[in-house]
Amino acid sequence: LHKRKADIRNDFLHQVSTLLVKNHDVIVIEDLKVSNMSKSAKGTLANPGKNVKAKAGLNRSILNEAWHKFFTYLEYKLKLKGGILIKVNPKHTSQTCIKCGHISKDNRKEQERFKCVKCGYEANADHNAAQNILRRAGLARITCQANLIRGRQQEPAEAYNSSSIVV
Ligand SMILES: [Zn+2]
Repeated sequence: LHKRKADIRNDFLHQVSTLLVKNHDVIVIEDLKVSNMSKSAKGTLANPGKNVKAKAGLNRSILNEAWHKFFTYLEYKLKLKGGILIKVNPKHTSQTCIKCGHISKDNRKEQERFKCVKCGYEANADHNAAQNILRRAGLARITCQANLIRGRQQEPAEAYNSSSIVV
């Protein structure tokens, strides 16, 4: 049963990543340190965390593994196609107002809603975060081109060949 569940999960990740790559040449993601996300309370095998429900830890590690796989699939499928995956710094993407740039935890008091405490801009929280991620990717391109002009390494062509850019 576990293998069957894992196969279904994996199949889903392949279907979604294939669909995204089919319709997009450039995909921008947050550079999440997925392996670190489960560390908090779970501890390690040698030094397990206390008072942590085993099932919650297991679910979290399955989720982290799924994200990691998903990003890997996106990256190699884009590479086969000649597209690129851009990874941006995830810091404050969900707390930053896309309209005025104000950063505050109070901008996102609810999971789904974003409301800027400074300018009053309201939006779906994921949509606001996605726009911040996209904006950072734009800055990544400009930085690459500026570095190229200054004769530094990491030229855009090089980044394209490696199929991903991390900023
Ligand atoms: Zn604002």
